[in-house]
Amino acid sequence: MGAALHLAHAHQQPVKKRRPKRTGGGNGGEFATIAHRIYQDDRADTQSRQLLLAAAYAITMAPLDEDTNVWRAICNAIGPSVADWNGLRSRIRHDLPCYLPPDHRWGSDRLNQRCRGPRVRMHPDGPDDFRNQMKVCGEKTHDKVVEKDPVTGWHTNHFFCARHRDHLHRVADQVAEQNAAAPPPVPNSGGLLPSYFDSDWLWMYRWATTQTWEPPEPYGLRADDWPVPGQDPVPQKARLRLVLGGGDLDAPTI
Ligand SMILES: [Zn+2]
Repeated sequence: MGAALHLAHAHQQPVKKRRPKRTGGGNGGEFATIAHRIYQDDRADTQSRQLLLAAAYAITMAPLDEDTNVWRAICNAIGPSVADWNGLRSRIRHDLPCYLPPDHRWGSDRLNQRCRGPRVRMHPDGPDDFRNQMKVCGEKTHDKVVEKDPVTGWHTNHFFCARHRDHLHRVADQVAEQNAAAPPPVPNSGGLLPSYFDSDWLWMYRWATTQTWEPPEPYGLRADDWPVPGQDPVPQKARLRLVLGGGDLDAPTI
């Protein structure tokens, strides 16, 4: 594969000044190739896809000069929603490599904070009510047992109300050994920037969060490297290099 392009360190000063790095036009063929990959990538949501495309455009196509480093070009490509470095921080935080448990977003699980205890009598809300369809108690509760997948370490929540506390204890006993042996959860969110662009991503993710942020070990920063059960590993592809340079990312405004 071709040589990787480079996304420079934003905190390094440019070596040469007064000379435009690129006047525009750039490498349209390379942009088209990477844009195609990004559009096909179902790991990316709308916000991630927008950031990846902006980075690809900034590296391959955007006019760059001493006032417009590649990071500013990324912000410009995204538009007014990334009007300052905090906007860029927020976008990079969205790509933070991490594991999101099943209840991280409200409404993604019908039995989130609902008792899974068995239902013996029909609920008065009718046959279409989820409690009758799923034959579960459905009482609201915060008490849960977390079951960890033995291969991925991913969590499944089992909620039980006070009336079904015996079920909670029984399930907790059943999963105790399995949970103790489970690996740390494989990340299921973020890590796309390092999959497409070569850079000092640990530095960037810490810039976007805190200096003490740690990558998800032992899996690392790149979503391409994370095992997905039943799927072959993502083949290694050439990554465009995104240099952290030619500007000052710690500047309060762009
Ligand atoms: Zn219950």
